[in-house]
Amino acid sequence: MFQYDLAEVTTLLRQLVAIKSYPGEEHAVQQAVANWFTANGMTAEIWPTSQAPNVVVRIENGTGPTFMLNGHTDTVLAAEGWDCDPWQGHIDGDRMYGLGACDMKSGVVANMLVTRAFAQHRAAWSGTLIFSSVVDEEAYSLGANSLVTQGIAADYCIVSESVPEIELGAAGKILVRADVIGKAAHGFMPWQGINAASEAARFVVQVDGLPLGVHERIPASQSILSLLSGSAQYVVTIPERAEVLVSRQIVPGENKAEVMAQMDTIVAGLNSPARIELTTPPPYYPPFEIAADHALVQALQVAFTQAHGRAGEYYYSTGVSDANLFAELAHIPTVLHGPTGANYHQCNEWIDLPSIVRCCQVFTQTILTLLPAK
Ligand SMILES: [Zn+2]
Repeated sequence: MFQYDLAEVTTLLRQLVAIKSYPGEEHAVQQAVANWFTANGMTAEIWPTSQAPNVVVRIENGTGPTFMLNGHTDTVLAAEGWDCDPWQGHIDGDRMYGLGACDMKSGVVANMLVTRAFAQHRAAWSGTLIFSSVVDEEAYSLGANSLVTQGIAADYCIVSESVPEIELGAAGKILVRADVIGKAAHGFMPWQGINAASEAARFVVQVDGLPLGVHERIPASQSILSLLSGSAQYVVTIPERAEVLVSRQIVPGENKAEVMAQMDTIVAGLNSPARIELTTPPPYYPPFEIAADHALVQALQVAFTQAHGRAGEYYYSTGVSDANLFAELAHIPTVLHGPTGANYHQCNEWIDLPSIVRCCQVFTQTILTLLPAK
């Protein structure tokens, strides 16, 4: 009854890959997604953001829970070194090469086809299925944040990123910015100034020594992303300003306030002659975890096992995604699972096309289990 066709999967994915969709430039690809739903007899809602809009399709089919299939249509910027045109959808055997083929237009295609199948086979289930494709995931998650602010609600959610196994949680992330304000002086009379570069360096050393949060399953990391100071042009002047960016991950149980308290303690301990101002610019992602015995995980595991002939492995990510936001800010139980591919955020990104069909089947079985016919 729920049939998915590899040729259609391939054609649709190739259409989406052909539309360039860097963060902030997703208007055309989102319009193509909306048009596809309209052409297939469904109503595509356009939910505005401050940039390109999100697309939401709601299949209401009687009483029962609400299930959301989510993905993002933006891609990272094309890396150098591609062996083919990144927007052409070059096929080699089972693979399609293309920017966003893996991350994650293939997942969006699976969500589109599954949504249409549920709209066509209404006797098989009861409840509401929501399709959402969002923008800007690779930058600030503006799309997912907008959906949350606009009140998206569901009982279950799968984010169909290219996660071949089953992801049950991820660390969160706080971006910390330190602005160090010193005082300029002639470089041969440094005692007359306050060297913002040196003070920023002292701060960085302390931040690097901070212990990370510990969690049984979810690993966390921390990186200094940048330390900028001095002028681009060579001059013998003590730098009066420096800026440090720290990407700090947090595990379940930790929060933003605790991390900032640690940072404040470091600043106080430096006794710096410079002024060090700390802020937390976006993006911010809370950590999330769903229990392995949650009904969503159990249903997905049964479906996965049916499709693959073995159980899926539970996995916890060091990365963040829109799943963090749906799970923690909208309180929607969320997992990540999607097609198999590689080289995302690099040249020669590819997706295994049959794995998209398999994903459609896994999503279908999962939804049928959780939204059974009355
Ligand atoms: Zn992604």
